[in-house]
Amino acid sequence: MPTLPIRTYGDPVLTNETTNVDEIDSRIAALAQVMIETMIDAPGVGLAANQVGVQKRLFVYDKGDGPKVIINPVIVETSGEWVYEEGCLSVPGLSWEIVRPNAVHLRGVGLDGQAIDIEAEEYEARIFQHEVDHLDGVLLVERLTDDQRRDAKRLLRRRRLSLAPGDPDGLRQLLGD
Ligand code: ZN
Repeated sequence: MPTLPIRTYGDPVLTNETTNVDEIDSRIAALAQVMIETMIDAPGVGLAANQVGVQKRLFVYDKGDGPKVIINPVIVETSGEWVYEEGCLSVPGLSWEIVRPNAVHLRGVGLDGQAIDIEAEEYEARIFQHEVDHLDGVLLVERLTDDQRRDAKRLLRRRRLSLAPGDPDGLRQLLGD
C-alpha cells in the first residue's frame, strides 16, 4: 500500500490550523486510507492530516484494537491530570513526560458520516489530545514545562549536527531559542 512522507518540525504545514471537512467524499476516504497505511508503516499510534501535508481536520489512530478515523474532531470536555511519556512522528527521536488532562470527551464524525462521541481516558485520551493539538497547529514541544524546554534546547545544541531528519533550527525556534 502507498504511504506519504511525514512532515517534521520546521515545516509550516504543522503549525497552521486545519479546516473542517465539509463533505466526506471518496477523496477523504482515500486520504484516510493512505494515512492509516502511513501510520502503520511509521509505526505510530496516531496521525493527523497536516502531518502528511493536508490542511484538513481529520486524524487516524489505533490504540491497539484496529485503525479508526475521526473527522472534524472537537474535545468538548476534559478532566483530571495524567503524566505520560509522549513522542511524535513529526519530532523524531525525542520524547518527554507531559502532563495533560486524564480524561476527555471527544466528538466528531466517522467516515460513514455517523456522529462519534467518545469518553476516553489515559492512553486513548492522550492520543486524542495529541492529534487534536496537531489539527490546531500545536506541536508537543509547546506543551513542555520551562525545565523540559531548557533541557531540550541544550540537547538540540549538542545534537545539532546529528539530529535528523527534520530541521533543528525550526525546532529551536518553536522552543523559543
Ligand atoms: Zn504527533
